Amino acid sequence: MIQKPKGWKALPISGLILEGGNSVGYETGSWRALRPVIDTEKCSHCMLCWLFCPDGSIKVRDSKVSGVDLRYCKGCGICAVECPRQVIEMLEESQLRKEA
Ligand code: SF4
Ligand code: SF4
Repeated sequence: MIQKPKGWKALPISGLILEGGNSVGYETGSWRALRPVIDTEKCSHCMLCWLFCPDGSIKVRDSKVSGVDLRYCKGCGICAVECPRQVIEMLEESQLRKEA
């Protein structure tokens, strides 16, 4: 059964967040208009993109950048701006979805 939204009266006073660590429950990837695509062959694994990503969306495996967690990446492009090797390309999300 679909639950009816609770509305603003159910919000905590002042919109306070009462539980820590709840951000994983909010998948923000659907907000994205542009998708970062990392050329992992040319990447130096300096981790600057991981450091700057405000959503913790850069995936790391064995101390190397392995991709982007698209469930949470909002497509802000900070990683692409900060990448010293310029190996992150921001591509149209709608186009990539059509091709998939
Ligand atoms: S900032 Fe660029 S070079 Fe550095 S780890 Fe990220 S993608 Fe690789
Ligand atoms: S586009 Fe923004 S949210 Fe997505 S991986 Fe890059 S820095 Fe993180």
